[in-house]
Amino acid sequence: MATLRFQALTEVMSRSPKMISLPSPKVSEYFGEMVFDKETMAKYLSKDAFKAVMEAMDKGTSIDRKIADSVAAGMKAWAVEKGVTHYTHWFQPLTDGTAEKHDAFIDFGDNGNVIERFSGKLLAQQEPDASSFPSGGIRQTFEARGYTAWDVSSPAFIVGTTLCVPTVFISYTGEALDYKTPFLKALAAVDKAAVDVCKYFDKDVTKVYSNLGWEQEYFLIDKALVQARPDLVLTGRTLMGHSSSKDQQLDDHYFGSIPERAAQFMLELEVEAYKLGIPVKTRHNEVAPNQFEVAPIFEEANLANDHNQLIMDIMKRVARHHNFEVLFHEKPFAGINGSGKHNNWSISTNTGVNLLSPGKNPKGNLQFLTFLTNVLAAVYKNQDLLRASILTTSNSHRLGANEAPPAIISIFLGSQISGMLDNLAEKVTDSKMTPEEKTALKLGIGRIPEIILDNTDRNRTSPFAFTGNRFEFRAVGSSANNAAALTAISAALAVQLKEFKKDVDALIDKGVKKDEAIFQMIKKTYLESKAIKFDGDGYSEEWVKEAAKRGLTNITSVPESLMKYLDAPAKKALVESGVMSEKELEARVEVELEKFTMKVQIESRVLGDLAINHIVPTAIKYQTTLLNNVKSIKEVFSSEEEYEALAGSRKEIIKEISGHITNIKAKVNKMIEARKRCNKIEDAEEKAFAYDKEVKPFLDDIRYHIDKLELIVDDEVWPLPKYREILFTR
Ligand code: ADP
Ligand code: MG
Repeated sequence: MATLRFQALTEVMSRSPKMISLPSPKVSEYFGEMVFDKETMAKYLSKDAFKAVMEAMDKGTSIDRKIADSVAAGMKAWAVEKGVTHYTHWFQPLTDGTAEKHDAFIDFGDNGNVIERFSGKLLAQQEPDASSFPSGGIRQTFEARGYTAWDVSSPAFIVGTTLCVPTVFISYTGEALDYKTPFLKALAAVDKAAVDVCKYFDKDVTKVYSNLGWEQEYFLIDKALVQARPDLVLTGRTLMGHSSSKDQQLDDHYFGSIPERAAQFMLELEVEAYKLGIPVKTRHNEVAPNQFEVAPIFEEANLANDHNQLIMDIMKRVARHHNFEVLFHEKPFAGINGSGKHNNWSISTNTGVNLLSPGKNPKGNLQFLTFLTNVLAAVYKNQDLLRASILTTSNSHRLGANEAPPAIISIFLGSQISGMLDNLAEKVTDSKMTPEEKTALKLGIGRIPEIILDNTDRNRTSPFAFTGNRFEFRAVGSSANNAAALTAISAALAVQLKEFKKDVDALIDKGVKKDEAIFQMIKKTYLESKAIKFDGDGYSEEWVKEAAKRGLTNITSVPESLMKYLDAPAKKALVESGVMSEKELEARVEVELEKFTMKVQIESRVLGDLAINHIVPTAIKYQTTLLNNVKSIKEVFSSEEEYEALAGSRKEIIKEISGHITNIKAKVNKMIEARKRCNKIEDAEEKAFAYDKEVKPFLDDIRYHIDKLELIVDDEVWPLPKYREILFTR
């Protein structure tokens, strides 16, 4: 019987692209047609209900039950017209991905007749009794139930025949059990702190928005090949596989013409995204073979993140229509590039000013430099928090792998902005400045715009890079929920801005002029946090040494990084800004530690099974063939000299195979022993550290021998699709 591997390869080669036809060549004709957006609301809601929702979206005011009833009625009317039969609260638990529990609109009316019902109560709140979601012990201690509550700031949408209402997910006692709740609080904290600082420059600023433009990288692999790799199916990455002789050396995939099957997948994905109001804009091939990227136009951060979570879900579904599987794992294949999710992040005001973009005049630029240096300080003081927010089990394989930012957090500003700040730091003094000095300074910073325009020195090796009008947090992993990273940076910035304002106010109280006080504090903030600024090659060995000299932290262990959530600076950022309570933070860390342990445990089991059930028997089979061959040679060529000449090389191979088999067997046994030891540990922290130190190293160790065997054993009997096949079969 042909192996699953050969069946899969045959299947892939027989495929032809599934051609997609567009609903209309004009996107504007169907964009957002499945979203209960402002325009639709205006049509389906009463004036009062519409006004209440708009206010809730803008100002975070609450909506009373009567209005909620009216909104629900409008939503239902719209949805039913679109053929919807079910509704769900859509939320983002601390697992990977989103969750939903569908309920039909069906209900009994007063006379026992069947009606469609969707009330304000059902819209506003649900108790999915989702007691299996991770909660870090919060729910065990109190009440098993968690409930979901309507996030008015993100509009409802329709997928298939289901109306989806974006919600937060919280415990009965009010603690956050999801990514969205702390994220919304962090966005509100930055809003408040930034508005207060903006008042120095413009009294009309009443709201500061956070913006996010994500760039989602992913692999697109034929379904049949994925199904023939149990490691890909169960862990999202290949736990073994020798590298292909050719992979990405020639850079011939990067920005190349998109293969037709993939292009049709993208087309269908874009249509689905547009219907859901997701403004996807960019698509291209990435560096590794079969690796691609999709990116939208940036949006308000909470909405943008919902859109990212939603599109990841749609991508998986649409891929199957084209016989593909999408891999979101940060490192599905060793030795070639992994996938990230750059978070392009900025903050802007209700008056239309991007606070991370150089202004049009000295005043605007002073405001820009104020926010820029405060971001610098927030990142400097919270390196460990930022890393903890992005260093997951899967992302740990990507960071520092010479293709992605290292596990050292630094900021790229570019030589011109750096020069600008250095100049300012030099000129500003603590004593009263003369009007001439001030004018010179203001003239100096007034020159930023023209400089920025031709500022092309963009740095691709920085984990956190300034790119002219925003920061790009590049260390975020492709499978991540962006909310974790953006919650960290937002909370850190909120606390930092508050301190900055306090210090400026103190100087003003002492009689220092406002703009001078701001100049002085920018200087102080900049000098204090300058160590985080690095414009050089983040992948280099020298940087690792230099960063250590500067006292920057460099942590690659996931549990070690996670524990930094509980250190003083992280607590200050998250707890002081009101984003999380200490209890919530502790629970979250426990959840993340457990996730790490479970993921390593699963990988270790899968590798053990594959090694013993697939690889070792295959190697033995081939070895037996060689042994029989040697035996036959002996029978035919009886002279010792002739026999040695002919069988010598076979005997070498037989020994080599034996060596690897023995090693695999012994190491798998040791790994199982280690797992047993670790599994006895009760404490989540201790267990994660034990898994990291005692179990995880076996994964690479065992893989080494398997990959060697792959090169020796007869290709015809090798059971698993090889890298060159997974990455290059068309
Ligand atoms: P790159 O050169 O890094 O690929 P792009 O121009 O493709 O950059 O933009 C990447 C993402 O950054 C897009 O989603 C884009 O909308 C977003 N972006 C652009 N300007 C801003 C901004 N001011 N704030 C947040 N995101 C932004
Ligand atoms: Mg980018």
